[in-house]
Amino acid sequence: MKRTISVLGSSGSIGRQTLKVASACGYQVAAVTVNRSVEQAEAQARQFKPKLAVAVDEKAAADLRVRLADTGVKVMSGLEGLLEAASLPEADTVVTAIVGVAGLRPTLAAIDCGKRIALANKETLVCAGELVMARAEERGAEIVPVDSEHSAIFQCLQGCSRRAVRRLIITASGGPFYGKSRKELSLVTKEQALRHPNWAMGAKITVDSATLMNKGLEFIEAMRLYAMPPERIQIVVHRESIVHSLVEFEDGAVLAQLGSADMCLPIQYALTWPERTPGPAKPLDLLSCPPLTFQKPDSDTFRCLGLALECAKRGGTSTAILNGANEAAVALFLEDKISFLDISRLVETALNRVPVLDDPELDDIFEADRAAREAVYQCVR
Ligand code: MG
Repeated sequence: MKRTISVLGSSGSIGRQTLKVASACGYQVAAVTVNRSVEQAEAQARQFKPKLAVAVDEKAAADLRVRLADTGVKVMSGLEGLLEAASLPEADTVVTAIVGVAGLRPTLAAIDCGKRIALANKETLVCAGELVMARAEERGAEIVPVDSEHSAIFQCLQGCSRRAVRRLIITASGGPFYGKSRKELSLVTKEQALRHPNWAMGAKITVDSATLMNKGLEFIEAMRLYAMPPERIQIVVHRESIVHSLVEFEDGAVLAQLGSADMCLPIQYALTWPERTPGPAKPLDLLSCPPLTFQKPDSDTFRCLGLALECAKRGGTSTAILNGANEAAVALFLEDKISFLDISRLVETALNRVPVLDDPELDDIFEADRAAREAVYQCVR
């Protein structure tokens, strides 16, 4: 089946690799969206000739409109543009590669239109996983994960009954600071945090990988995607990033998905599933792999992971508070306003200050997100 895709967040790392896959596999692109990267949006629009190009920022959209005046590509801005890109009738699949809770409304819009969601926006499931999964079920929208760990689990589950699953095992690279003490972490710089040993990714997720918050968010994402209680999910540190995750079944069998650290494969699988087709992903050469190692994660030193695991158990709006506070704290860290260890300290402060609601509606989730960010900003003012 030849898909037609809308790529939300097309200038980010996942967005660009999605377009690489689309080009290699001959998929049509119905929409691209960026925040402010108009040069990339223009180049993408000229190459893929989508119906719609969106720049969320108003000024950027005005610029993009001038740049694309000769092309017939429609240009929109703001949330309205994102929602339009998510619901275009031409697209059967929406790749949600926006960073953060900003991806939540567009993802719901795509679900409401019954699209396949190639989900690369983990924050959406962290904040509102129960709502999103219930809505997808109701509207018959398929959610196929792009995150490499969740794609690995999804691949291992093919042809297996969900009732036969005993445990999910998520692998973690451990990030650039694996093995460091709290004292050593107090001295690390932004430049060091942005240097991931195995994966080339955007700034926010690279910092999340350094704090291990990324693994905590992925733990919650896995709970929501696969309806698993926290006690049936395990995280293991696997420095080599070759085993992308595993599933243990009731009979004791453990299936794993292996591959080189190349996001093109999970992106492509989210588009081709249940088929597999040739594509641009780098093949794995077992004979040149280092020995594969597995260790216990250290959620005391890497406090963000500990906090995320506590929220995974607590549920309600606690995961939205965790995520909102983390988004705000990581942005402050990237602006050189706080230190590396301040990230977990501020997230913990927000979790202590903002009350948790059970069985939240969408508005409660946005309010929890807002209150968590506010609690973080209050501490640095
Ligand atoms: Mg991942």
